[in-house]
Amino acid sequence: MRYLSTRDKLVRVTAAEAIAKGLSDDGGLFVPEVLPSLSEGQIQSMCAMRYQQRAVYIMSAFLKDFSAAELTNFAAESYNDENFSVPQIAPLKTLTDDTWFLELWHGPTSAFKDMALQMLPHLLTASLQKTGESREVCILVATSGDTGKAALEGFCDVDRTKILVFYPQDGVSDVQKLQMVSQSGGNVGVCGVAGNFDDAQTGVKQIFGDPVLKQVFSAAGYVLSSANSINWGRLLPQIVYYVSAYCDLVQAGRIALGGPVNVSVPTGNFGNILAAFYAKRMGLPINKLICASNENNVLTNFIRTGTYDRNRPFHNTLSPSMDILVSSNLERLLFALSGESDTITAAYMAELNKTGRYTVTPQIKREIDQIFWADYCDDEKTKKVIYATYRKYGYLIDPHTAVAFDVLNHYRHDTGDNIPAIVVSTASPYKFADSVLDALGQRGSEEGMELIDRLASVTGTVPPMPLMGLKGKRVRFDQVIYKEAMPQAVMDFLR
Ligand SMILES: *Cc1c(COP(=O)(O)O)cnc(C)c1O
Repeated sequence: MRYLSTRDKLVRVTAAEAIAKGLSDDGGLFVPEVLPSLSEGQIQSMCAMRYQQRAVYIMSAFLKDFSAAELTNFAAESYNDENFSVPQIAPLKTLTDDTWFLELWHGPTSAFKDMALQMLPHLLTASLQKTGESREVCILVATSGDTGKAALEGFCDVDRTKILVFYPQDGVSDVQKLQMVSQSGGNVGVCGVAGNFDDAQTGVKQIFGDPVLKQVFSAAGYVLSSANSINWGRLLPQIVYYVSAYCDLVQAGRIALGGPVNVSVPTGNFGNILAAFYAKRMGLPINKLICASNENNVLTNFIRTGTYDRNRPFHNTLSPSMDILVSSNLERLLFALSGESDTITAAYMAELNKTGRYTVTPQIKREIDQIFWADYCDDEKTKKVIYATYRKYGYLIDPHTAVAFDVLNHYRHDTGDNIPAIVVSTASPYKFADSVLDALGQRGSEEGMELIDRLASVTGTVPPMPLMGLKGKRVRFDQVIYKEAMPQAVMDFLR
């Protein structure tokens, strides 16, 4: 199976090339030329499998240039009990008869990015080999908090790779920052950027798009690559947990095989929900994809009106991993819904670049209405939801998950559609212990790691091991730079 660029369908590459390159030279994103289909029988056969086997099953359908043995090996190395604290890898927590939380944060960094970033280094290093790339890879990451740490963990001391992470100085939690600046490994670098996530992401995109810099890095023996969710190798492992969650519900007798479920996803760069969209298109019986945003509700407006408009104030919220105004992966959705039109997709992206906005055709809008529903939840409400969920069910959720839960409740209230629903839980509450304590009315004067102890003692819950391990860790990276200095920072890092 080949992969096409969303901006030029004549660009056709293998899966390995798509993963090795990350982004097409024309600025487009790689998408599979056909989406494999998933029959009811296939879903049934996956019900009896373990998570690792389900991953191999799904990923093989997309990665024809990888052998089953290779993928089995990668799944075993990614999703094992050394990296994940529960054997199910992505367990469902039952809230009520018709509502479950899909906990995607039992990996090494306590956020859902691990689901993909434990797998990506395996896919990437194999892809480099398959494509005959002789240079080393330098992974550049712009992070709104969770990607950075998950990528650092995934690539730490991986042969033939170096990784440099840029995080926005005013946009990550205490715990997130500590996780990154204390990262171990001989091939890693971490650098703060004065500004917000979009500044960091724009800076990285500019480096990728600069032909002169590309030459300079190449001459130094490096090829740049990305671990952001624009890389197909990031997106693919995320399709797996939707299928897996569905199978778990069937297996537990909670839903009948073929029965519909709704899925509510806390959304930022549109990667997680796009994986759900692909799962639905493949044949997984998902009814509505509920797109949940925080006050940076550019996606809510887009899904409701058909106009994407990034010209608006940026808010730093309690759910920082969703503080994004330009959701890169939306480009893949536009491509899919425009009848795979590279010209239409490229035109929207050019408009976005030039004016900061675009409006989709009525036909695309109708398709969006059929598949998606969207709303947002502000910080005040987020705190109330965390408090109420804990009081009523004794279940502690993080601010991102609270946004998704709240928006599911809006959806049920507004539409009367009360079929079984999965809320995607993207981070451990401990990762955002300051906000969670605040929501519970228990915030004292604690800082950093003390917040984690405090949340444990207030709730009687157990913090994830990797976060406990941060205690007493040394800060290795304290540099903060302006956006303009990012190319220089990369050169210094590679020297
Ligand atoms: C990255 C992230 C999100 C947003 O996911 P996207 O794939 O960017 O839409 C939501 N919650 C948490 C905790 C995250 O780390």
